[in-house]
Amino acid sequence: MTMPVILRTVAELRGHVRAWKAAGQTVGVVPTMGALHEGHLSLARRARAECGRVITTIFVNPKQFNNPEDLKKYPRTEEADAALLATVPVDVIFAPSPEEVYPEGYSTNVTVAGVSEPLEGKMRPGHFDGVATVVTKLFGMTMADRGYFGQKDWQQLQVVQKLVLDLNLPVQVVGCETIREADGLAMSSRNIRLGEAARQQAPVLYAAITAAADDIRAGQSDRMAIREAAEKMRAAGFERVEYIELRDAGTLLPSDDPTRPRRMLAAAWLDGVRLIDNIPV
Ligand code: AMP
Repeated sequence: MTMPVILRTVAELRGHVRAWKAAGQTVGVVPTMGALHEGHLSLARRARAECGRVITTIFVNPKQFNNPEDLKKYPRTEEADAALLATVPVDVIFAPSPEEVYPEGYSTNVTVAGVSEPLEGKMRPGHFDGVATVVTKLFGMTMADRGYFGQKDWQQLQVVQKLVLDLNLPVQVVGCETIREADGLAMSSRNIRLGEAARQQAPVLYAAITAAADDIRAGQSDRMAIREAAEKMRAAGFERVEYIELRDAGTLLPSDDPTRPRRMLAAAWLDGVRLIDNIPV
């Protein structure tokens, strides 16, 4: 199996992409922070099926971590990641250093007002500025025609769609289904930090919001259904339920209009690990 070429600098990356574009190939990019799992690979496979050339970026973006401890503990597994990406296969892995992405004197920040403010935006101040800034830069660096993002991070997907629209970026954003473990837990690079007992309890997050969404569709009040979901999670050992909210799927504003697409989004702590999930309602 040929391993994808790993590039560290924007100049090298641009060299490859210019040649591909001159040959008329479309370019897909899959931005990640590494520690890859089936969720990431499903994005890469979709890009492989739809684009002539595929770049996966691996960059643990310091700007999007509001918690320095989380940044320090974030898993870094580049060799294993490269081996997984070789099975797709992707053409290039772009894995720049923090200095390559944010050289001395770097001073531009991208803020997407509105959709980035509630939920994750409120709980993790500065997080979406970091995401919006790095995604804008990755689009510029890769000159990609299509960018692939997971619905697992639903609010992030809305933020990226909004910045592409507002800044007229020539990129098509593709949102991909959440990939789950057999027991329903959404795959995440942070799941490996769960202890054995906590790992057994973690699927209660998805089960609880799924039951709440079913109850709401069956006519139960939003508030009651959400309260029951939070109680189930606490009973299963979640230390803290940060939020469970029913929102308009696009704006993420509160929504009691069942005729519009809505999304239930949740964040909670289990065994010192922050888990998020979301589903359509
Ligand atoms: P991350 O490495 O966590 O920043 O994630 C990189 C990309 O993979 C983001 O677009 C995520 O939404 C996506 N992703 C992460 N986990 C999953 C999953 N379980 N299913 C689908 N996409 C995912």
